[in-house]
Amino acid sequence: MPHTPYPTSYYAASANPVPARPELQGETETDVCIIGAGYTGLSTALFLLENGFKVTVLEAAKVGFGASGRNGGQIVNSYSRDIDVIERTVGPKQAQLLGQMAFEGGRIIRERIAKYNIQCDLKDGGVFAALSAKQMGHLESQKKLWERFGHTQLELMDAKRMREIVATDSYVGGMLDMSGGHIHPLNLALGEAAAVESLGGVIHEQSPAVRIDRGANPVVHTPQGRVKAKFVVVAGNAYLGGLVPELASKSMPCGTQVITTEPLSADLAKSLLPQDYCVEDCNYLLDYYRLTGDNRLIFGGGVVYGARDPSNIEAIIRPKMLKVFPQLKNVKIDFAWTGNFLLTLSRLPQVGRIGDNIYYSQGCSGHGVTYTHLAGKVLAEALRGQAERFDAFADLPHYPFPGGRMFQVPFSAIGAWYYSLRDKLGV
Ligand SMILES: Cc1cc2nc3c(=O)[nH]c(=O)nc-3n(C[C@H](O)[C@H](O)[C@H](O)COP(=O)(O)OP(=O)(O)OC[C@H]3O[C@@H](n4cnc5c(N)ncnc54)[C@H](O)[C@@H]3O)c2cc1C
Repeated sequence: MPHTPYPTSYYAASANPVPARPELQGETETDVCIIGAGYTGLSTALFLLENGFKVTVLEAAKVGFGASGRNGGQIVNSYSRDIDVIERTVGPKQAQLLGQMAFEGGRIIRERIAKYNIQCDLKDGGVFAALSAKQMGHLESQKKLWERFGHTQLELMDAKRMREIVATDSYVGGMLDMSGGHIHPLNLALGEAAAVESLGGVIHEQSPAVRIDRGANPVVHTPQGRVKAKFVVVAGNAYLGGLVPELASKSMPCGTQVITTEPLSADLAKSLLPQDYCVEDCNYLLDYYRLTGDNRLIFGGGVVYGARDPSNIEAIIRPKMLKVFPQLKNVKIDFAWTGNFLLTLSRLPQVGRIGDNIYYSQGCSGHGVTYTHLAGKVLAEALRGQAERFDAFADLPHYPFPGGRMFQVPFSAIGAWYYSLRDKLGV
């Protein structure tokens, strides 16, 4: 079998040491076979193991190979569409349940880090930066909305206060969420994988699921082996391909790009982000950035619909970084990479069952670090027979992209172009 390594990235270059995880050979039997070792798969595995299930995780490449090992590392609360949109889409009871869960993922991450002593550079504090009065108005409503659902650690900031937090004149104001924050995302995934194994879970890398025999006793096939299971959890997200055809039409893989500077002097790093908070702006196609544990700036932004890899990532992202921080014009970029997230038309996660023993969660549409950790808990609850919270997600309506698979990229790109034009005009 060809070996799929991590793509070149700052995270792969600074990953904690990992054990060899051999590919699956031959037949094995388990309670739950999980497809994909990103946060969704690993979080599900951990909650199941903590509740006495036997778990086998199949990973096509390596733990955290997908978005979980490449992302901006920002712990952002709630979902890619906020609770007010959910309230308008579904009934009040379901919205109440989903709203109560919107802040749980960040707590789960912190509990995991503490319980399993995961070394992943956790820092508290995340900032939403407003580029226009309209966006500031939106943040004011968001604060009221989140407070209505019991979230309390929020502060609205005017331009002067923002300037104390980010050394740029780009913003008219912002909102600080002290329960947001940032992590080294690959090291979080690797720490969670180690926790899975410490509880007796088995992870096979380089073991893509190539076929699922459905039915009362599902069997998941890999090139060299197969897993007989009582349940299957599909957690392949944007990298799943066509393994489960019914999941493909209502979601679309999209690429987004990240660059990392050379290490900055401690003084320069502190001058950019004195409190070491992470920042994302409020545009539809948003820019996001933060410092790493070794004083580099990680800056991400941009979306490539259909997940084609752009040839020169630095040329796309560096100008965005210099717009925010012109003071970095002589700084070298050490790493540039792309990763895929999975977009749904509603931008809400796509969750459900196929038959009564194949479960899935995917498509958190950009913001997924917290949601995927919550998803693991909610999936594990459902497998234990407590499906109320799982069903609140599963009942969210999802629609195919207009134009079917062939035309979904142009249609979504037109939609994104329209929203980014509105951002630029501040309307
Ligand atoms: C560049 C980038 C920046 C981002 N920044 C942020 C951020 O700062 N904050 C935030 O909240 N969200 C961010 N996101 C989104 C977030 O990273 C994702 O929502 C989240 O990591 C998804 O986790 P996952 O486990 O569902 O999927 P992934 O992490 O993509 O994991 C899926 C795994 O399944 C494996 N797999 C797929 N098919 C198979 C198969 N057939 N057999 C076996 N294994 C399979 C893949 O190899 C992969 O390892 C970002 C995403 C990207 C791409």
